[in-house]
Amino acid sequence: AAKDGGRGRLHFYAPDLHSRAEERSRLEQDLRDAIAGNALELYYQPVVSTATEKIAGFEALLRWNHPVTGWMSPAKFIPIAEESGLIGLIGEWAIRTACADLARWPTDVRCAVNVSPLQFANPELPTIVSKALESAGVDPARLELEITESVFLNSDEDTDAMFAALKNVGVRLALDDFGTGYSSLGYLQKAPFDKIKIDQSFVRGATEEGSRNGAIIAAITSLAQALGMDTTAEGVETLDELDMVRMFGCSHIQGYIYERPLDAATATDRLRTGLTAVAQGPRSARAAR
Ligand code: C2E
Ligand code: MG
Ligand code: MG
Ligand code: MG
Repeated sequence: AAKDGGRGRLHFYAPDLHSRAEERSRLEQDLRDAIAGNALELYYQPVVSTATEKIAGFEALLRWNHPVTGWMSPAKFIPIAEESGLIGLIGEWAIRTACADLARWPTDVRCAVNVSPLQFANPELPTIVSKALESAGVDPARLELEITESVFLNSDEDTDAMFAALKNVGVRLALDDFGTGYSSLGYLQKAPFDKIKIDQSFVRGATEEGSRNGAIIAAITSLAQALGMDTTAEGVETLDELDMVRMFGCSHIQGYIYERPLDAATATDRLRTGLTAVAQGPRSARAAR
């Protein structure tokens, strides 16, 4: 295939593109059915406080059990929801569902919900959020909205106004996947974030010799601290990674080392039973146990 010229490649890819477009429109219809049939679910991944080693809150993550292909990753269906305009409905459902679940959890437990840039561009978002909080009877400070750097791509007065309106509602704001997009320190200066989420691509490999990722994590963490923001290290999978992000002072840790995303009932259960002991305590204490 490497020998193919431009024309050969065109022939090779054309049918592929066609079927991809077909698959996409089929998925779009399935997604409409899923919304109508309540087939979407929110899973909750514990976010652990470094200081207390207790569950500080959860990140709500969409799950879709597709009738034919089974569990499908949000990384695959969120883009379809965005392109088809379904993200508005799905996003509102996620916010309302997270608020309803928050109402059943202790008041010191928070929940984060991901917000698509398209939702962020909708002037109704603050109203949607405050109504969801109100009807669930939940303190706005317990809800955290996760926003990615892409909301700044075409930022203007409307972007600033949206940040102000959301802060006015009283929710917390987190900058998700920090460092993977068009990161600019200007965002941190302008927007009222309460937390920076350090993308898992920095955590991954950071413990390997010669990796620069550790230095980057340390720098982001001290910057966040100086600005009065929390930091969550995302995607922590190994004990070495856990020790490292602890050493660098990340205030929160999220990753398979503690828990994978859990269904609502199991998440609620974990609040009662606590985390499984595997990852708890500093390394020395763990070894002694
Ligand atoms: P995200 O917001 O960065 O979420 C973190 C992702 O990392 C989740 O993937 C989570 O399951 C995964 N993760 C957590 N810990 C680990 C770990 O230790 N190792 C590895 N390898 N992965 C880990 P997930 O659930 O597949 O979600 C993917 C993305 O889909 C999310 O990335 C978010 O951008 C988007 N998404 C999920 N739910 C929603 C939603 O309700 N609304 C919107 N707009 N986007 C959503
Ligand atoms: Mg997120
Ligand atoms: Mg993230
Ligand atoms: Mg992500």
